[in-house]
Amino acid sequence: MSDTPDEKIEQKQLACPVCQSNKAEIAGENVKLSGRFEDKDFLTTALTVLKCMKCGYYMFFDNTAKFTTKDQ
Ligand SMILES: [Zn+2]
Repeated sequence: MSDTPDEKIEQKQLACPVCQSNKAEIAGENVKLSGRFEDKDFLTTALTVLKCMKCGYYMFFDNTAKFTTKDQ
């Protein structure tokens, strides 16, 4: 049994929740979303927005996340 806890998660494997594609382009960085919930306005922290190049699905990630978006 060599299953050790994942202590070295450095990069997330990007996968579109819709089509499972791992190809995405950055649609926006440091994007803050505002909205309303139960009569309260809110503003999210800065997010990175990725757009799936296959189906166009938008994914939002905390800026602390790192991705493998190298063009190879
Ligand atoms: Zn997709």
